[in-house]
Amino acid sequence: MYFVTHVLAGAALATRSPGPAAAIAGGLGTHLLLDWAPHHDYRRPLTGFIDFFAGLALVAALSLLKGSAQVWWGALGAGLPDLEVALFGLGLIRSRRVLPLFPSHRGLSPHVKVGLLPGVLTQAAVAAVSAWLLAT
Ligand SMILES: [Zn+2]
Repeated sequence: MYFVTHVLAGAALATRSPGPAAAIAGGLGTHLLLDWAPHHDYRRPLTGFIDFFAGLALVAALSLLKGSAQVWWGALGAGLPDLEVALFGLGLIRSRRVLPLFPSHRGLSPHVKVGLLPGVLTQAAVAAVSAWLLAT
């Protein structure tokens, strides 16, 4: 799933969380669930950079709109697992003895990938629900 989708969902859940620790935990939980949802992943580093900075800009805008830093905690929990994906994808971790830590990246929980159109539609649905949570 795209970084921007993960951080949006984590930020939305964070607005309903009682504090930073719960927001981070909720964000991690959304990452696990959203990796389970059928989704599309890109392969090009440039797309990853664009996705990363779009996610940061989105969370910054949400933080300003909501007048709270709480969304950052949820976004941190939701986005942090993809740090290891970036490290592996950019070749910064090359050892075959080092495996990803996050369950859905390691194959310990489902990570369902589909083609571009259904995968993007799934993420659009997640974004719509997240936007609704943020607006209400
Ligand atoms: Zn993931």
